[in-house]
Amino acid sequence: MSIQSTDLPAKKTIVIVRYGELSLKSKGVRDRYEQILKNNIQQMLEYHNVAFSKIQRDFGRIFIHSSDPAAAEKAALVFGVVSVSSAYTCPSDPAAITALCAEIGSEMIADGEKYAVRARRSGNHTFTSNEIARQCGDAIWNKLVETGKTPAVDLTNPDKEVFVEVRQTNSYVYSETIKGPGGFPTGTQGKMVVLLSGGIDSPVAAWLMMKRGIEIIPVFFDNEEYAGSIVAEKAIENAKVLFSWMPGRKQKIYRIKNGEYMKKMMQTTGPKNICLMCKRFMFRIAGAVMEKEHASGIITGSSLGQVASQTAENMLSETYGLSLPLYHPLLAFDKQEIIDIAQRIGTFDISIRSNGEKECLAVPDKPEVKAVLTAAVMEEEKMVFDIDEMIQKTVMNAEIIEMKI
Ligand code: ATP
Ligand code: MG
Repeated sequence: MSIQSTDLPAKKTIVIVRYGELSLKSKGVRDRYEQILKNNIQQMLEYHNVAFSKIQRDFGRIFIHSSDPAAAEKAALVFGVVSVSSAYTCPSDPAAITALCAEIGSEMIADGEKYAVRARRSGNHTFTSNEIARQCGDAIWNKLVETGKTPAVDLTNPDKEVFVEVRQTNSYVYSETIKGPGGFPTGTQGKMVVLLSGGIDSPVAAWLMMKRGIEIIPVFFDNEEYAGSIVAEKAIENAKVLFSWMPGRKQKIYRIKNGEYMKKMMQTTGPKNICLMCKRFMFRIAGAVMEKEHASGIITGSSLGQVASQTAENMLSETYGLSLPLYHPLLAFDKQEIIDIAQRIGTFDISIRSNGEKECLAVPDKPEVKAVLTAAVMEEEKMVFDIDEMIQKTVMNAEIIEMKI
């Protein structure tokens, strides 16, 4: 039986979603992760108002039934997704597959362009993937000739590729693949607090951990009279951009009013150690928020040596004696690598916004760059207030900004 070109689908009606690492999990875990991934894809499509009729799991793939041209692009934003392709579909019958390939191939391959057909197959069929690839190649050839074009096959270095994926009942034909972020679906690895500023680095650090399946709770320090006036606005906007990568959830941002601590700390801490003590307090507060939110870690945007104060000595002194699960995913990244990701994820333009003001008025001209191990602990001992009480009070006075994105 052969099908007429008038029977061919006019539109791509299916988006094939591929995922990677989670398919290596044991069956039970894989099942759960796939279900979460499917839900997350649905949330992403709904967030972007993409129309779809069904999302289906099927042996190592997720299929989105949608002819909305935005479906593939939006599905490719979901953590856990390795790649997506928008495809035409037909029954897994050689006549139908070759007719579909001929139709699509002859439309996309220009006169004289070299092409290749790549086929893969799963299930039980009377043909192999090589056989169907050859038959599709021939069908395209004939159709190109029929339409007055000169065909040329080149399997090594083609100008155009037609991909055929044959599954048990249905087959899919497509020509393009969009890369996804990879990683694990949001929500599979628990929650972490992120120390999120208005700067370039911390949103990127958060995003990288989100890519591994983490849900984030941003904690932003508003240093009040020591902060530039647009810092808070940038941090909150960055948080919203990050939330848009895991939409469909209730979110919260902790805005920590930190003016009182800064003022009191600076009464006993000399200028050199202000940054050290500011950081240490941020870590302590983040630890308290982490416990309150039943989260399991703290993410920062620290990158070794990026600014004079981010030295290994300082990082050690800042955390000496504290028992906190701090994660610094950018520690080994170069600035340009961080900027490239910031641009891709949509936080860069927010982070570089400036009104000419200094972002932190408490930063001294010459901050410590080579702190001795116990420097921060010794500064804390000099303080004339109780640090635990200050932590409690500061967390209690935090403004919690709630939103659904
Ligand atoms: P960023 O670009 O993320 O602001 P940075 O290069 O400016 O980082 P620092 O100011 O030394 O570096 O901050 C290091 C990390 O400390 C930040 O990446 C962030 O995780 C955290 N941090 C700094 N300032 C704040 C703030 N106001 N609120 C919350 N976290 C902060
Ligand atoms: Mg900063």
